[in-house]
Amino acid sequence: MATYKAPLRDMQFVMQDLINFEKHYQSLPACDEVNQELIDAILGEASKFAEEILAPLYAVGDEVGCTMLDGGEVQTPPGFKEAYEQYIEGGWPSLDQPAHYGGQDLPMSIGLPVREMNGTANWSWAMYPGLSHGAMETIDTHGSEEQKAMFMEPLVSGRWTGTMCLTEANCGTDLGLLKCKAEQAADGTYKIIGSKMFVSSGEHDLAENIVHIVLARLPDSPPGTKGISLFIVPKFIPNDDGSVGERNNVTCGALEHKMGIHGNSTCLLNFDGATGYMVGEENKGLNYMFTFMNFARLGTGLQGLAHSELAFQNSLAYAKERLQMRSLTGPKNPDGPADPIIVHPDVRRMLLTQKAFAEGGRALIYFASTQGDIVTKSEDPEARELADRVLGFLTPIIKAFLTETGFESANLGLQCFGGHGYIKEWGLEQNVRDARIATLYEGTTGIQALDLLGRKVLGTRGKSLKPITSFILDFCKRARRRKELRPYLKTLVRLTKQWKALTRKIGFAAMRNRDAAGAASVDYIMFSGYVLLGLTWAASANAAYRKLEQGTSEEAFYRAKIQTAEFYFAKILPRTTSLLETMLAGPDTLMKMEDDQFIF
Ligand SMILES: Cc1cc2nc3c(=O)[nH]c(=O)nc-3n(C[C@H](O)[C@H](O)[C@H](O)COP(=O)(O)OP(=O)(O)OC[C@H]3O[C@@H](n4cnc5c(N)ncnc54)[C@H](O)[C@@H]3O)c2cc1C
Repeated sequence: MATYKAPLRDMQFVMQDLINFEKHYQSLPACDEVNQELIDAILGEASKFAEEILAPLYAVGDEVGCTMLDGGEVQTPPGFKEAYEQYIEGGWPSLDQPAHYGGQDLPMSIGLPVREMNGTANWSWAMYPGLSHGAMETIDTHGSEEQKAMFMEPLVSGRWTGTMCLTEANCGTDLGLLKCKAEQAADGTYKIIGSKMFVSSGEHDLAENIVHIVLARLPDSPPGTKGISLFIVPKFIPNDDGSVGERNNVTCGALEHKMGIHGNSTCLLNFDGATGYMVGEENKGLNYMFTFMNFARLGTGLQGLAHSELAFQNSLAYAKERLQMRSLTGPKNPDGPADPIIVHPDVRRMLLTQKAFAEGGRALIYFASTQGDIVTKSEDPEARELADRVLGFLTPIIKAFLTETGFESANLGLQCFGGHGYIKEWGLEQNVRDARIATLYEGTTGIQALDLLGRKVLGTRGKSLKPITSFILDFCKRARRRKELRPYLKTLVRLTKQWKALTRKIGFAAMRNRDAAGAASVDYIMFSGYVLLGLTWAASANAAYRKLEQGTSEEAFYRAKIQTAEFYFAKILPRTTSLLETMLAGPDTLMKMEDDQFIF
């Protein structure tokens, strides 16, 4: 069975040596009392919950999965409900929620590592409370005072959970096609009619109520995305005193039988005239839903990191124990029948790739969470505006790049185990199956790539790229003092300049032929991810050199950071060269074959 140990040391490295969270909190009056001691205490407690309660349910969640009962109720795997009760008792759902709803008002960047630990220990379980966060964010940002009073406190406390209902049989990526209807009732509420599919956590037995956030169309609304409105549709209608009342007409019609994440219920939901409450103004629903989607996209990026981390931890332990063949440079375990496989260069390539993606990805997403703190907690409007732009730019990259590298790492984790990786009992094949969904839901890699290149970069004539490229170039200038880093900084400066130049080239090509952007977009988002991870690794090496100079009892830990940076720059970052070439190859080779020439 796969095992999990929370990587507290690496989390501390990011939060203390690399980004300095304490200083970041001091710059935000709303959370200037958050200090290292408090962070350590929270992460310490959270790690116990993840390791002792959630990780042991990882395999059973996969084996038993969710079960639909005769009445359409859904039973989660054994132990999931009890774990959720303990989660509520521990006050975890309210950690980074506003105090006026009963939350603990801590910043998002404290909630994120907690979610990382829960998700790495057991992603399927973590999706139940995970989706509630998006629902809370959406209601708090766009809901009426009455809706906030009705739904926020039970969601914040964890008594109720949330879902996100966009997808229908005929529409996934293209939400303009959605058909689910909403008709106004005499009392001002709406009757929701239609079906939503693939609704994660859509029905379950963990909480007393489920709050569905649903996109639907009013009768006379314009076609396409301009005619979509947003509704809150609870499983049970809340009473005025906040208790749950009558059962609403939303039921689970079926559970999907899927490749992975078996412990999470993926539901077909039927809305048979279910009572819904409109959020905000009619026909602006998709804009409001973006609040949920952006939150969920970062959450899915976190899932990619979780799969890299789990793969790395388990394959590392195995590589130190499994004895096969001798090292090419002579026996390293002369008293044993063979050497441990960690001596082999190719096994090291696999381990270091996973380590580079897990730790580099952690640094990237934790940095993004500090931008989220600034957006929600800063008193300076300019700082808020800039952080919002940076976070908006990073979100599709984090979603696409960390999930693609998460899947690559999961696959490499299995490979390190040889044939044993293919066998269920080790848990590595589960990690591969669970990781596969992350590049698909919340918008596929292809769709994230179009969002980044089409909407965010070319749509702003490259303006959104500027804060990031300036940040990288500033870092390179400051870090030049350290001569050991100079080769990396030179590479990073070159790639950053290329990033800007190729954006211009694709922009010009797209003016002549719009397929040029679509043909380049996935290569572009992956290129962007590799460069950003280059930044995190150069910055990590910089921080490690500083600690070594200051003197530390953890020399091995910091040397490993420097060595992983060396590995990343030598063995992973050169992937950008090939991406650069394919990105600029243009759309012709993709488009010139007629559809009816695609034959087999
Ligand atoms: C386990 C699971 C859980 C899910 N959870 C939820 C949930 O909680 N709530 C919810 O609403 N949905 C959920 N989904 C749905 C998920 O978000 C969609 O499956 C996903 O967005 C893709 O939509 P689709 O499956 O219809 O694929 P399609 O939209 O049909 O896409 C098929 C392929 O075409 C590509 N494509 C489509 N349009 C373009 C374009 N313009 N340019 C380039 N390529 C394009 C896509 O990238 C993809 O490769 C879930 C799905 C699964 C499998």
